[in-house]
Amino acid sequence: MSAEFDLIRRHFSRPAPGATLGVGDDAALLDLSPGNQLAVTTDTLVAGVHFLTDVQPAALGWKAAAVNLSDLAAMGARPRWLTLALTLPQADDNWLAEFARGFYDCAAAAGAELVGGDTTQGPLSITVTAMGEIGPGRALRRNAARPGQDIWVSGELGDAALGLAALRGEILADLADQAVLLSRLTLPQPRNALGIALTMGLASACIDVSDGLLADLGHILTASATGAVLRWPDIPLSAAARHFSQMGDFATRVLAGGDDYELCFTADVARRSDLDKLAGRLGVRLTRIGEITALPGLHLLDETGREMTRSQSGYAHFNA
Ligand code: ADP
Ligand code: MG
Repeated sequence: MSAEFDLIRRHFSRPAPGATLGVGDDAALLDLSPGNQLAVTTDTLVAGVHFLTDVQPAALGWKAAAVNLSDLAAMGARPRWLTLALTLPQADDNWLAEFARGFYDCAAAAGAELVGGDTTQGPLSITVTAMGEIGPGRALRRNAARPGQDIWVSGELGDAALGLAALRGEILADLADQAVLLSRLTLPQPRNALGIALTMGLASACIDVSDGLLADLGHILTASATGAVLRWPDIPLSAAARHFSQMGDFATRVLAGGDDYELCFTADVARRSDLDKLAGRLGVRLTRIGEITALPGLHLLDETGREMTRSQSGYAHFNA
């Protein structure tokens, strides 16, 4: 790409005081705090697959950073550095300025700095690598859930999936609801402060909910060789989402829709009051939604305690 260096200098060269050497040389140089491990994760967003091509560039920049920071949150690692590999059909200065603003805003909110990347021409695609640090043995791994532990989830589920449904014209939301649901889709808030706090002896296993609660909790169950009982009436919903609770496939959209970027984690029963206090301190809703069982399998119970059956359209249908 012609003018590539100019483009990088203009848009992606903000100072990175937490790096020994940031953008501008052949590689960044990074020093970990003493006694820490590096946690590294990468996610790619492809136009037309992970976002609509007419998305606002600032929202796209935000989300590219957010989905990666969310993976660090799920490990309990403290965000430090990001790299950004950007493939662009053309170099549009206004678009890039907005994209960079969204990216840096999200990074700064999590305490992470952009330290390098790559810029190439081609169909729009964005790959971010996030690096964080964590003390050895402290990471919240998927394999650490134990029978009898509570299952918790942060925030509220389903808003992003309903926001996407509203964008696609599959549901009709009033303006206020639409604003809430769309902002949850386009500006997800990675739960980094929560993830870090959960490593202080509070949680065992943890995962971020990117593909829907059922799929992502399923990864914890597989890795931990356990099962789970989930209570549908306890799943936290926003006021906006509750307006759609009469829809036939509502439970499926909430539990399997994805893009929530909340944390689902397991914790000993003895940690309940500590977790309630943590929720107050961080201003993040934390809800107990079920328990880990020794018997494999994921069972979803309705308000009467009966199991909800899985049909072709998901978990929408209750036992008659
Ligand atoms: P090289 O040819 O060595 O790969 P580049 O021209 O790709 O060098 O990059 C020059 C510098 O700019 C490097 O420090 C690289 O990390 C940084 N960089 C390139 N693209 C981006 C980007 N999109 N965001 C942040 N830094 C970038
Ligand atoms: Mg390069």
